[in-house]
Amino acid sequence: MRRLDDQRYIRQTILPEIGPDGQEALACACVLIAGVGGLGSITCLYLAAAGIGHIKIADGDVVELSNLNRQIIHSEAFLGQPKTISAAIRIKALNSHVRVTPVQERITHFNIDGLLKDVNIIVDGSDNYETRQVLNRASLRHELPFVYGGVQGFNAMVSSFIPGQTACFECIVRGPGIPSDTSPGIIGPTAGIAASFQAMETIKLILGIGKTLKNRMLRISGLDMRLHSLKLVPNPECKACGRI
Ligand SMILES: [Zn+2]
Repeated sequence: MRRLDDQRYIRQTILPEIGPDGQEALACACVLIAGVGGLGSITCLYLAAAGIGHIKIADGDVVELSNLNRQIIHSEAFLGQPKTISAAIRIKALNSHVRVTPVQERITHFNIDGLLKDVNIIVDGSDNYETRQVLNRASLRHELPFVYGGVQGFNAMVSSFIPGQTACFECIVRGPGIPSDTSPGIIGPTAGIAASFQAMETIKLILGIGKTLKNRMLRISGLDMRLHSLKLVPNPECKACGRI
């Protein structure tokens, strides 16, 4: 029997691009949210609200006061507690039909393959090159789409890396950059904008609709309110996906 909640999803199932069959596809999908910080806070909520059947959340951190300017899935009541638990409780409060699997671990080369069991799409919620490299390699190995998001200050970037079809993360970003002792600044809506685009991409990829950010990097400047779409080209010498 179809697990549909007619009234809950009525405003999206009346869309011809979705309909009852699309809703069923969302209910059958499993998404890994790789980090439930500024980006993951928003992607979790929109994907849960849309009726994604199974959301896995992996994050090893606890909620800190300095998170709350942008990580709005969390709240003061959960300070010092695992972000995965805080997020799981909030998701279940929003949509009790969604299956949530919280994994309170930092994502590494050692645990990623286990985390990806049954997963259809990897959604980037990380904040560092090393974790994204782990996610990118796993995306290529398992042939799963990797919906990338990056934020700093007022600027955001979003793209969808599809194994075999597009450039990969490591084609575009060639290294971890210069390490810093201080966390970069960010205003909350920057994360919200990037993550909303990531959630939109994820839904479209599951449904196979629309025009996604394949081989495109969307760059958003919040200060100028400008969007730029940059064409991405696979690097034939890429150590992750290149045929060398
Ligand atoms: Zn590559």
